[in-house]
Amino acid sequence: MGQKYNPEDFRMRIIPVEWLSKAKEEYLRFCQTADFSPEERKSYVGSRVLDLPELPFTPVSIIIIMARMSMKTAVFKRGGKIVTDLFRAREVSIDGYLNSLYAGKGYHLVNERNLPQKILAVCSGLGKYGKNNLVYEDEWGSFIQLETYISDVPYETGLIWRDIVNMDSCESCGVCMRLCPGGAIRKDRFLLELTRCHGWLDVTRQLPDSAPHTIAPCCVCQRNCPKNSGWRSNNETVEFSEEETELLMAVHEVPGEPFKLTFGNMSDTMRSWGYPEPLVAKVMKLGIYPWTLKDIPAKLEHMFSHTA
Ligand code: SF4
Ligand code: SF4
Repeated sequence: MGQKYNPEDFRMRIIPVEWLSKAKEEYLRFCQTADFSPEERKSYVGSRVLDLPELPFTPVSIIIIMARMSMKTAVFKRGGKIVTDLFRAREVSIDGYLNSLYAGKGYHLVNERNLPQKILAVCSGLGKYGKNNLVYEDEWGSFIQLETYISDVPYETGLIWRDIVNMDSCESCGVCMRLCPGGAIRKDRFLLELTRCHGWLDVTRQLPDSAPHTIAPCCVCQRNCPKNSGWRSNNETVEFSEEETELLMAVHEVPGEPFKLTFGNMSDTMRSWGYPEPLVAKVMKLGIYPWTLKDIPAKLEHMFSHTA
């Protein structure tokens, strides 16, 4: 029997596929008004899918779907020192849920992550924009996974296209702007200054040594946002012993070049490194992106060496 899903774990909108052109207009309008550096322009505009790709079916709708993420605080120990890191874990499968709704009904669903997802989520009324450029769900805050699918599932009727504005609470807040370690959230610009965001610098391997390094991407702007205050009650501590931390800090060879770890082969790869089963389970629990597994030794080394 297939896995049972709780609809309460998901929020979704099914919008007409024609709305992609409205989203494109909005997106390009943002891009035209921002003082982008060439690097930012490449990242913001170059990688986005703003027109419908070729598909083996006639697209009718775009499904925008979000699911709550749970929070895990990982505690690592070495030589009497303790460091912590906050992870956002995906515990429910959006793919699985959509399959449970539509499999066997003759519909097509193509997961396209490079659509202007946030604009589609906000303009369809599924979420709201924060000053930190993240999408918020009323109850869950910004700790959500967001996916978009081009499909031929009939779209909902009566939907209204909404303007792009920040949440009301952002007006009198500004916490994320004040605390952002890179100064990426600017008062005079709607979009983040991407090349100052530590998350982006980390992914592109340009994070300076003087910046805090963490295994999980920087989430200072999310962790401290008043609209996310609920995460502490949705937080589990995952503790790694000194022995387990030592194993995590050993640099292992990764089979295959270029590095091709996926969620599917991640556990087996760790087992092949001699990780005992409880350690594999703990790492998997954190929802670490497979492609960041190889960075753990260097990240932990940095975290320990910058902790008194
Ligand atoms: S920290 Fe304040 S300004 Fe920033 S997104 Fe949250 S509510 Fe908005
Ligand atoms: S992820 Fe970190 S660096 Fe990037 S905008 Fe948020 S607080 Fe700033």
